Amino acid sequence: PIQLAHHQYDILTGANLLERAASLLAPHISNNHAIIITDETVADLHLDTLEKALAPTHIRLDVLRIPAGEGSKSLPRYSALIEEILRLGIERSTTIIAFGGGVVGDLAGFIAATALRGLPFIQIPTTLLAQVDSSVGGKTGINASTGKNLIGAFWQPQLVLADSSVLQTLPRRQRVAGYAEIVKSGLIADPNLFAWCEQNGSKLLDGDSSALEEAVQRTCRFKAQVVAADERESAAKGGRALLNLGHTFAHAFEAEFHYDGRLLHGEAVSIGLHMALALSVQLGLAPIEDLERLDKHLTALSMPTTLADLPKRLSAATLIEHMTHDKKVQNGRVKFVLLRKIGEAFTSQEVTMEDINKLLSKEGCLT
Ligand code: NAD
Ligand code: ZN
Repeated sequence: PIQLAHHQYDILTGANLLERAASLLAPHISNNHAIIITDETVADLHLDTLEKALAPTHIRLDVLRIPAGEGSKSLPRYSALIEEILRLGIERSTTIIAFGGGVVGDLAGFIAATALRGLPFIQIPTTLLAQVDSSVGGKTGINASTGKNLIGAFWQPQLVLADSSVLQTLPRRQRVAGYAEIVKSGLIADPNLFAWCEQNGSKLLDGDSSALEEAVQRTCRFKAQVVAADERESAAKGGRALLNLGHTFAHAFEAEFHYDGRLLHGEAVSIGLHMALALSVQLGLAPIEDLERLDKHLTALSMPTTLADLPKRLSAATLIEHMTHDKKVQNGRVKFVLLRKIGEAFTSQEVTMEDINKLLSKEGCLT
């Protein structure tokens, strides 16, 4: 369960949940009409299972497919889709179901938040990243030409159905990307989860179903707690901001590669986690042994950890330029999530551009 001030919902995790959609989903679909938004890839692989499972319920299902990929989180796609939905003849109680990865979840969620000023919404995340991160917590949105996720709304689902079986068809590279967010959760506040990753990460990336199931469950539990304590990422509460560990660097890397598939979000996060801990060590806040431990774990799984793992070498000036645009810089200081040790993150307002420059040159950035 995830308990918010004005809303409560369940995250269901486990294997073969799609087959049980009639009993698990149907009670949450209020007026017998639901619109499934999915992408072409997920539709080809898994839509049949979902439709067959829901057939006995006689719920009217409309299915809208979008092209796979980040490019679909755009204003033109949003506009075309919402017009199409309105033409289908919907009511305030028609349910929107997001069936796909984070792209589908963010776009469908924003449609649910805005069509008729808000429709009931269900998330069926199908990537590891979506199951452990994007489907939980109510952030929805699309990209603007000036930046990622700049148009959006908080809109909480009625239910999240995270079926670990669908992750079997996920390419390993996508699994790695989702796994980075699991490691991140351990680093922020759960040293036991990090230790679990060290034991089970390799199995998980090979598609071991019980490892996937356990990781999804543990990470969702963690994110649900964080979101419950700080639903809207308020500056005063601050807990939710810790989820940005590694993301200031990650967003700067991603911006440079234009979200065109050369660098996945989770790959950028993997390097970003190393950078955040390296910065914490440089500032004398965290022990070097913890950095060595993180690097050892990530490299053992062939995950990217250094700037040399990026698709091309970048200059410090380029990265700092992107970070300055990331809204986290004020008066030459960057708001940064740092670590005291593995399992203990905090937000610092004290990091200077000099600190970042020093780190980037130490890490082999072009000057
Ligand atoms: P994605 O939705 O693009 O999915 C990645 C690829 O995997 C796509 O090609 C998709 O078609 C394919 N795919 C999906 N499920 C599959 C399956 N079961 N088997 C085989 N292929 C499958 O990307 P993502 O990594 O899931 O999500 C990234 C997006 O999530 C970004 O836009 C990011 O901004 C957003 N995000 C949002 C939040 C949030 O809190 N709302 C948090 C983190 C990330
Ligand atoms: Zn992330």
